[in-house]
Amino acid sequence: MSGGVDSNDAPGANGLNYFPVFFDLKGQKVLVVGGGEVALRKVSLLQPTGARITLVAPRIHPELTERAAVSALAIESREFTPGDLDDMRLVIVATSRRAVNRWIAKLCDARAIPVNVVDDRAASRFIVPAIIDRDPVLVAVSTGGTSPVLARRLRERLEAVIPKGLGDLAAWLRDLRAASRRRLSATDQRRRFFEAVIDGDAARRFIAGDRRGALRIAQQLLASACGAARAAGEVTLVGAGPGDPDLLTLKALRALQDADVILYDRLVSAEVLDFARRDATRICVGKSSGGATTTQAAINDLLIEHARHGRRVVRLKGGDPFVFGRGGEELEALARAGINFSVVPGITAATGCAAYAGIPLTHREYAHSVSFVTGHAGDGGDEPDWRALAMPGTTAVFYMGLARLDRIVCKLLEHGAAASRPAAIVAQGTTANQRVLTATLATIRDVASVADLEPPALLVVGEVVALHSTLAWFNAPGRVDLSAIA
Ligand code: SAH
Repeated sequence: MSGGVDSNDAPGANGLNYFPVFFDLKGQKVLVVGGGEVALRKVSLLQPTGARITLVAPRIHPELTERAAVSALAIESREFTPGDLDDMRLVIVATSRRAVNRWIAKLCDARAIPVNVVDDRAASRFIVPAIIDRDPVLVAVSTGGTSPVLARRLRERLEAVIPKGLGDLAAWLRDLRAASRRRLSATDQRRRFFEAVIDGDAARRFIAGDRRGALRIAQQLLASACGAARAAGEVTLVGAGPGDPDLLTLKALRALQDADVILYDRLVSAEVLDFARRDATRICVGKSSGGATTTQAAINDLLIEHARHGRRVVRLKGGDPFVFGRGGEELEALARAGINFSVVPGITAATGCAAYAGIPLTHREYAHSVSFVTGHAGDGGDEPDWRALAMPGTTAVFYMGLARLDRIVCKLLEHGAAASRPAAIVAQGTTANQRVLTATLATIRDVASVADLEPPALLVVGEVVALHSTLAWFNAPGRVDLSAIA
């Protein structure tokens, strides 16, 4: 799991963090040491960059010799000498002798020349990614040198989904940039124009080969963008799901990637925020253990203010925004202020935790209804219908209930629930730290008191809890979840 949103400086799992760059080598001197197949592959990658390549090796692959005859490739058929490094900007070492490779790498390091030793990550100062080439678009994949096979598989998948015509599309977009710059002065206006081109029919037609149709649509979009007054801002209320970032909906992902500003709650995981556009403004309006860091009124004001500036605002909430999320109140404030809004539902904690704990919330034999109840119910005077919640054949899920566990259990028992009724607490559900405790109404308090649970957690009460022992699959001992790499 990654740490806080801004703490990108933690070392990677393998202790190495690479800085991803695309190196402009046009006219730069590059040395390749080695003359076999591997060296040939590297030369093939280097040549299109316009680098001035020198290759040194006592034995030279015939294809290299052929290339040297027709292109800017200088071949020296001899052993490497340290003087070969003079004036080099980049060195690739690909001899079959590991000790020689390492010696050359050391010499490079001493001269501060970036060096790659093929198949020797430890000796390399940079590594070469697997690439998907749609010139001028280049997608690079690195597994940090941990698994070339994984990198290759990823490359294959990306090859399959990235259209072959993407390079031409990129070149066309470059031409459109000049036109849009002349006619649209604001950067956010230009960004929206390009989003409309790329997400809509213009790009689709272009990729399909209808370039004239694509241009016509782009021109129409440009004309209407010019005529439009400053873009109206809007707020999208987005459910971030219970924790596992893979539980985000496609629509939520799109909203995050389009957002200019994101106001998020503390419950939203860092991995979910990682899906946002890099330069989006992120504002934490979270509440920590009851103490409000930003009041509801202040959140409403922030939403309105950013939208009034013409920004696309995402209000990101844990789970579903309409389930104990105060989403309704925020929308009422937006409606009063005349701000456009929409809602993207999310997987609420009850359904997410139930699924990942192997507790079906309804079941033909055990439960015909399910209630979502806030653990705070009753605090302000209004009691939930405890008798209904205590009935057999129902499932009750209590949010924010851990601090009120004692009260909830007492109320259920008072209203006729059997002491033997199964109950479960799911903490940090759907995350790698998920914990599921099962007990009965009689014992759940004791079980919870010694368990040292980390919030957030919810309580599930009902006969369906008994199914957990058979249906637990996530993080269950003895079962390995390989779905991620299937
Ligand atoms: N809108 C959210 C609920 C917000 S109230 C939703 O639809 O899920 C916050 C409560 O949700 C927490 O106190 C806890 O009871 C529950 N909760 C949220 N995420 C959870 C998780 N990953 N595991 C267990 N409970 C969770």
